[in-house]
Amino acid sequence: MLEDKKIGGLGQSDQDLILREQLTEHGKSVRVTVFANIVNAVILSILFFNQAPLAMHVLWYGMFAYLSITRLYLAKQSEIVELSREQMLGLKKRVTFNAAGYAHMWGAGVACLLPVATPNQLMLLAIIGAGKMSTAVVSFRHIPEASRAWTIIMYIGLTAGLLYLGGIESYAAIALLTMFAAVLYVNCGNIFENFAKQLTTGQEIQRSAETVKLLLNDFEEQASNWLFSVDSEGRLIDVCDRFAEAAQHPRETMNGMKIVSLIEDKEQCARLTDHISNGRSFRDMTVSVDVGGGQQWWTISARATDDTTDTDNIAMRGVIEDITAQKNAEAKVSYMAHFDGLTDLPNRRLFTETLNRTVHRAEPDDEIALIFFDLDHFKAINDTLGHPIGDKLLQMIARRLETLAKPGDLLARIGGDEFALLLTGSRAYEVAAVADAIVEQVGEPFMVDDHNVIAGVSVGVAAWSHDMADANQLLKYADLALYSAKGDGRNRVASFEKGMDIAAEARRNLELDLRASLGRDEMRLHYQPLVDLKTQKKIGYEALLRWVHPVRGVVMPDDFIGVAEETGMIVQLGEWVIRKALDDAAIWDENLTVAINLSPTQMRSASLVSTIVNALAHSGVDPNRLELEITESILMQDSEANIRTLHTLRNLGIRISLDDFGTGYSSLNYLRSFPFDKIKIDRCFVSEIDTREDCRAIIRSVISLAQNLGMTTTAEGVEREDQVDELRIEGCDQVQGFLYGKAEALGEYTDLRSNNVSVPNVETIYLPAAEVPITTEPKRKKA
Ligand code: C2E
Ligand code: CA
Ligand code: CA
Repeated sequence: MLEDKKIGGLGQSDQDLILREQLTEHGKSVRVTVFANIVNAVILSILFFNQAPLAMHVLWYGMFAYLSITRLYLAKQSEIVELSREQMLGLKKRVTFNAAGYAHMWGAGVACLLPVATPNQLMLLAIIGAGKMSTAVVSFRHIPEASRAWTIIMYIGLTAGLLYLGGIESYAAIALLTMFAAVLYVNCGNIFENFAKQLTTGQEIQRSAETVKLLLNDFEEQASNWLFSVDSEGRLIDVCDRFAEAAQHPRETMNGMKIVSLIEDKEQCARLTDHISNGRSFRDMTVSVDVGGGQQWWTISARATDDTTDTDNIAMRGVIEDITAQKNAEAKVSYMAHFDGLTDLPNRRLFTETLNRTVHRAEPDDEIALIFFDLDHFKAINDTLGHPIGDKLLQMIARRLETLAKPGDLLARIGGDEFALLLTGSRAYEVAAVADAIVEQVGEPFMVDDHNVIAGVSVGVAAWSHDMADANQLLKYADLALYSAKGDGRNRVASFEKGMDIAAEARRNLELDLRASLGRDEMRLHYQPLVDLKTQKKIGYEALLRWVHPVRGVVMPDDFIGVAEETGMIVQLGEWVIRKALDDAAIWDENLTVAINLSPTQMRSASLVSTIVNALAHSGVDPNRLELEITESILMQDSEANIRTLHTLRNLGIRISLDDFGTGYSSLNYLRSFPFDKIKIDRCFVSEIDTREDCRAIIRSVISLAQNLGMTTTAEGVEREDQVDELRIEGCDQVQGFLYGKAEALGEYTDLRSNNVSVPNVETIYLPAAEVPITTEPKRKKA
C-alpha cells in the first residue's frame, strides 16, 4: 500500500511501532465516532422516514449496525498489545474495509435521498454529506488508507446523487465537492505523515536517551568520574554506588549528607556552598577530600537544573572526577624539581625560592640566618673510595644534619658537596651553636660500607639585616664567610664580617690583574740558598716567585699563588717557572741544585712531565740537580695519579722533596706512600726550637724517621745562630733561612751577613760566627 511504502524507508522496528500506534490511536476515538454516527443515522431516518421505503430503512440500519459492531470489535482487537506484524496489517486492512463500508452506506444513503429531499432537507443532506466526508479525515487520521477510501467513496456517492438531481446548482455543488474532496484527500496523507514523523522522532529521542543512559552507566561504572545531584542546600540525592565507593561511605548514609561534609578545606567548603545555595553553575572546582584517612583530590563541576517539575528537589546536577593520580603525578614532578634525588633534601631551586620568599616577607626585626657549608676534600674521598661511597657519605651527612633544622628551617643540598641551612627566628648565639654543631657532627667519623670515613666541613654564616638589598646579598655574604672559613684552614666556622666583601672585591681585582699579567713580563724568580749544615756550603737554591706589578709593586706569592691555584692560572705560571728556573740554573755551578715548588693543580696537569722534560732538555741541566717540592695536599688529592706522576719524575733522576712538613694534615702515612728524597721541616717548628720542647721533640723524631727512611732533612726559616746549633745537635742535614740569605733576584744576590753582592756559587761558604765568606766569580756553564 501507498502508506506502507512511505514508511518503508524506516527500520522494521519503526514500521511496527507506527502500525501499533496507528491502530491504538485509531481505536481510542472509535466509541465516540460510532456514537456520533448512530445519532446522525437516527436524525436522518426520522427526518426522511416517509420519503424512503421501509425496506430501505431496514437494510440501511442493518448494514449500519453490522458495520458499527465490526468497527467496535476491530477497535477492541486493536487494543491487544501482543499483535504480530501480520495481524496488525490484517487489522488495518479490515479497518479500511470497514471505513469503505461506512462510506458506501453514507454515500449511497445521502445520494439516494437527494432526489426525494425537500429544499430544506437538501440543506440537511448537504451538511451531513460534507460533515461525514470531513469528519472521516479526523476519525481515520491515523489510518490514511481508510480516510482516503472514505473520502473517495463519499465523493463518488454524493457526486452521483448530485448528477441525478441535475440543474446548475448541482453542478456547482459538484465543483465545490470536488475541490473539497481533493483538499481532504491530500490532507489525509499529510496528517498521517506528521503523525508518523512525530512517532519516529519521539522514538529517536527515546533511543538516544537510552544510549546516553547506557553511556552514563558505563561512565559511572568504569571511569574515575561519577555523577551526583544535590538539593539547594547541598544535600546529596540518589547517590550512585560508585560515588559511595569512592567516598568510602555506605550509600544509604550518603543520601541526604551535605556534599561539603566530604571536603576538608574550609575555604573550598565555603566556595562550594556559595555556588550551590545561589544555584550558580561551576566547572572544575578542585577540592581535597579525606577518604578513609587518605587525602584525595576531586574536581567538581555542576550545573543548576531548570526542571521545575522535578519532584526530587534536585537543584544541581554535576560530575565529580577523581584527579588524585594526576595530582600525585604532578606532586612527584614538582618534588623532583624541588628535591635532590640523592639525599632527599630540598635542592638549590627550592632553597632559593624559599629564601627569596622568606626575605621578601620579612619584617625589619625578623631573625633570618643563612649557613653555607661545604665538605673539605670531598673530591679526595670520592677519588680514593669511589663515588658510591661518596654518595652514601652525602646521604649520611644529610640524615645527621637534618636534626639540626627545627620546624620552619630549611636544610638543602645546593650542589655536589655544598649544603645550606636557612634558619628563621633563631637568635645569633643559637645560629652560632648550630654552625658549631655542623662542624662537630660532620667531624664525627662515618661508617660507610666498612670504611671509616672522616670528613671535615667549612661553614660560613651570615645574618640577614633589613638594610640588605635582597636575598642575593645574604647569599653572597654567607658565601664570603664560607670562603673565609676555607681560607682560614678549613674545618671551621666563619661568620660574615664587614670587610669580607671588600676583601672579595680585592681578590676579584687581583684575579683580573693576574690574568692580565700572563701576557706581560711581570713575573720574576728570586732564589733563596740552601746550605749544608756540616760543610756550611751553599748546595743549591729554591726558586721563589715574585710578581712585579706596575701599580701594586712587588707582590709576594702568598698573596697570589692561592688565586692562581683556584683559577688554574698556576699551570701556565708554573710552566714559566720551570723553564725559567732551569734556564737560570744552567749558568750556575754544576754542583748547585735548583728547587722548584709545585702546587696540586700543576700536579694534575697532563703537560707537567713533558714541560719538565722539555725544560731540562732546553737548559741542559742534569735532572739530578732538579728538586721538586710538593706538599702533603698533593698526596691527599688524586693520590694514585699523583704518585704515578711522581714516580715518573723520580725515574728521570729528579729529586722529590716533601715541603712544609709538620703543617696541615701531616701524617707519617704520607712518608710511606712515596719514597721522598728530602723532608723540609716547616719553619714554625724551627722558629720555636730553642724555646719549646715539643717543637724540638717533633724535629728530633722527623729527623730520625727521615734518617731511617734514607731521606735528607732541610730545616726552613732559620734566622738565628742558636737555631743552627740546635739543628746540628739533632742531626739535621741542611738549613734554609734569612740567616743564610733571603730570596733574591739573580745577579742582585746579597749575602745578608756580609752585605756583599754575590751570585750563587758553591764556593760561598758560611762560617760560624762572623767569618767573612769567600766569594768567587760564577762559572758560566753556557753562554
Ligand atoms: P715555601 O716553599 O715554604 O717557601 C719558603 C718561604 O719562606 C718563602 O716565602 C721564603 O721567602 C720564606 N722564608 C725563607 N726563609 C725564611 C726565614 O728565615 N724567615 C721567614 N719568616 N721566612 C722565610 P715566599 O717567597 O713568600 O713564598 C711563599 C710560598 O709561596 C712558598 O713557600 C711556596 O709554597 C709558594 N711559592 C713560591 N714560589 C712558588 C712557585 O714558583 N710555584 C709554586 N707553586 N709555589 C710557590
Ligand atoms: Ca718550598
Ligand atoms: Ca716550605
